[in-house]
Amino acid sequence: MAEAIEIYDDRLRGILRPVGSLQELANGAVHSEGPVYFHEDDSVVWSDAHGNRLLHWSPTDGVSVLRSPSDYQSGNYRDLEGRLVACSSGLRAIIRREHDGEWKILVDRYQGKRLNSPNDLVVKSDNTIWFTDPPYGITEPNQGYGGEQEQPGSYVYRFDPATSEIYPVVTDMVRPNGLAFSPDESLLYVSDTAAFNIPGGPHHIRVYEVVDERHVQNGRVFCVIDPGQPDGFRVDEHGNIFTSSEDSVQVYAPDGTQLGKILIPETSTNLTFGGKERDRLFITAGHSLYTIDLNTRGVQL
Ligand code: MG
Repeated sequence: MAEAIEIYDDRLRGILRPVGSLQELANGAVHSEGPVYFHEDDSVVWSDAHGNRLLHWSPTDGVSVLRSPSDYQSGNYRDLEGRLVACSSGLRAIIRREHDGEWKILVDRYQGKRLNSPNDLVVKSDNTIWFTDPPYGITEPNQGYGGEQEQPGSYVYRFDPATSEIYPVVTDMVRPNGLAFSPDESLLYVSDTAAFNIPGGPHHIRVYEVVDERHVQNGRVFCVIDPGQPDGFRVDEHGNIFTSSEDSVQVYAPDGTQLGKILIPETSTNLTFGGKERDRLFITAGHSLYTIDLNTRGVQL
């Protein structure tokens, strides 16, 4: 499959391989989301978020179902011990796969009230889990089990699995969804996908300064995404942002300049860096999982 690239700034040429190609690795999901890479066997785990399954792809075994039902698991990541940590939109919790394979709820409440429905997460270098909590698992029948919203808003939380301390770090967004730190973790980027079902709502990525590794301040709009919304996104070693959108993976420099687009045949939802050199992008989009080799590396494990 020959990929289509739109280049708006020459800096993108240094990021792309001279001859790269977009490959479809898997299809058949209802709604692909939340890819996470396992370097141990060069495999990818991702969520069929609306199909209520967790899927697995490897170059040797192809596609298999890892977990069904998955309680509407959405975003996935790995902690510093390599364990899979995930947002469970159905259980309204952050969950973790233990070394023995059992799944454990790490946190499902803040101040005694149930979380909305955690959507996406990132593990910081201090092993704290930062996650978004929009209400999609409550409001959207194909993303959770419904129920009542108990939290007064849709926040971004910082959770420390070592102490179980949890508190909101971002409270001024409408529907926070994807998130990522800059390479030195001095900045936190968070996407807002409110335009998905709120007419006139935001469809942008905000950036915040991280303070004392525990809080954020001075949030501002980093980029506005069109067409569609920025669901999940990732950052490379140079601080460039690779974000999902309706028609493509859009690439932004750390200064906010849009460098260009990698067009994807389906609406992309999320992505992650992988491969032995961490220079391969794995993209969840529509029913499928895609990959493309780049000339840059991701910052995450
Ligand atoms: Mg998401």
